[in-house]
Amino acid sequence: MTDSNSVRDDLLARISKSQQPHEVLRAPELRAFASELKNLPSEQRADAGRALNDLKQSLQAAIAKREAELLDQTVTPIDVTAPFDVNTTSPSLLPAEKGTIHPVSQEIAKMSDILQRMGFMVFESREIDDQYHMFESLNFPAGHPARDDFDTFMTVEADKSSEPFVAPAHTSTMQNRIIKQLKPQLDAGQPIAATSIDRVFRNEDLDPRHEHTFYQYEGIYIDKDVHAGMLVATLKTFLESYYEKSLDVRVNPFYFPFTEPSFEFSLSCPFCESEGCVVCSQTGWIELLGCGMIHPNVLEMAGIDPRVYTGFAWGGGVDRLVMMKRGIEDVRHFQSAKLDFLRQF
Ligand SMILES: [Zn+2]
Repeated sequence: MTDSNSVRDDLLARISKSQQPHEVLRAPELRAFASELKNLPSEQRADAGRALNDLKQSLQAAIAKREAELLDQTVTPIDVTAPFDVNTTSPSLLPAEKGTIHPVSQEIAKMSDILQRMGFMVFESREIDDQYHMFESLNFPAGHPARDDFDTFMTVEADKSSEPFVAPAHTSTMQNRIIKQLKPQLDAGQPIAATSIDRVFRNEDLDPRHEHTFYQYEGIYIDKDVHAGMLVATLKTFLESYYEKSLDVRVNPFYFPFTEPSFEFSLSCPFCESEGCVVCSQTGWIELLGCGMIHPNVLEMAGIDPRVYTGFAWGGGVDRLVMMKRGIEDVRHFQSAKLDFLRQF
């Protein structure tokens, strides 16, 4: 008669080393044990049957444990596309470092996320545009002195009005297109709420606060009975969500051709609780962005009747927000591609 204990010890030892532990259930010892059972006198058969069952159960448990172990074994990952170091006898992979997301891209993603949750559709801006969208559609007629504030780069090629194309100096170049595209929403009784956070260009003398390429966040909201209070409340909600704290806001009159009235929007300094710090130049306030009620001419040029609809718009610099938030002293770091700088984020 087979000794079930010695079979058990033997099979358990095999399971603990096997790469395919399940195969052990087909061991000839087990089969022999089962066939012996049939030939036993009936008074011994019940006991032997129980012994066989116990044995099978402990084998099953050991197999499940071994299979889990095999799954857990970590296989060193290899990159089949990676170059090997030719100077080593046994090839080892050259070091690969994990990249990081650019600090400006991180903030853009966060801002887009907040604005989308507030109901704003996100639009991509363009990196080359025509002068109609850069100026005329935004109520800068030809020869308007405010065009000079937006000195940017122009192409040698001209558009169909014989004017050179421009590298947009602000994301507002998208306003006319966005309003036209979303006009059916207004007709259906829904407001237009859109944002565009993208790259813009200026012909600047470069210094720690000025860069030729930077990022702006822009938003528009158009509906019936929209007023400046809604503009202030929307921006306050957005900025409080962005800085994750309650903030005071303040608007001062300003001038932009594409809004009337226009405001300069200031925020109580989120870094010093308004007590004064380097970021807010000890004033407790930060002038953050420009905004206002969309000029009736801008609405009209996008096919919206300004006697029926009103709207607000804002635009501000992303780079400055990131600089303040992360304590970065020179805007030129962003475009420098310096890894020492980028790896800090
Ligand atoms: Zn401060």
